[in-house]
Amino acid sequence: EKYIGFHGAGGGGSMMSMDAVLKRGFKLANYCDTSGNPSASKVYRASKIILSQPDIRGYFASGSGVASQEQYHSARGMVKAFHEEKLSIPGVIRLGGNFEEKAVEILGNYLKDIPAKVEGYGRDDSPEFCAQRLEELIKENQSGYHEVKPVVDLVLPKNCYFFETLTGKLSIDHRKCTDCGTKGCIEACKAEILKLEDGKPVLSVSKEEAKKGKCTECLACEIFCTFHEQDAIFIHLPIPGLKEYRQKIVKK
Ligand code: SF4
Ligand code: SF4
Repeated sequence: EKYIGFHGAGGGGSMMSMDAVLKRGFKLANYCDTSGNPSASKVYRASKIILSQPDIRGYFASGSGVASQEQYHSARGMVKAFHEEKLSIPGVIRLGGNFEEKAVEILGNYLKDIPAKVEGYGRDDSPEFCAQRLEELIKENQSGYHEVKPVVDLVLPKNCYFFETLTGKLSIDHRKCTDCGTKGCIEACKAEILKLEDGKPVLSVSKEEAKKGKCTECLACEIFCTFHEQDAIFIHLPIPGLKEYRQKIVKK
């Protein structure tokens, strides 16, 4: 069967996008929509749930193409999810709308090293073209179907600096920061809630303020540190029920 995971953004654009893949003989394993200016953490969770389906052969994200939301948030959410899942099925991600160039750049820069080929597109690339690319990539892909992986319990290093965010927890392993040349997490944080103290990043606002939403869960600090520095930051974004759900799938 030609099942794919579907990740839309906006009802009308999603309908056009679904039509485009259905015309190529694909079947949709799910319908998921992250429109309405989603945070990177929300898109991350959506991707993780879509990638809990065992029989999919590709990942298709495509919405209206003219979304007013800042598309780089969606790109960062998918980068984190695809890396954690070690994605081995191809993906075509059409993130048309505000800051789409930056979104496509993020996908291109940070998804080079995963097993699967993932291509990013913008508003000038039609859903039909993107569906065609997905079909071509699936034909080239040898690994076939997506393999659902068990959820591994989080073990933070001892004495890690951490704070809670609106829906998760951000940890920084300060021991790694001594080898850091750029301290780039500070600039990456556009919410300006990180500052350096003895060469290590800490909150410049109170832990309560971070938890109430000053940390926007944009994932920018984690992605910067993972790919450009010492891999010291991890943002844990739990998904209730996912561990148990995947256990059932993996056992089958
Ligand atoms: S970029 Fe990473 S390694 Fe460098 S100071 Fe920030 S958290 Fe530490
Ligand atoms: S600390 Fe700053 S860069 Fe990191 S997730 Fe929170 S808001 Fe984003």
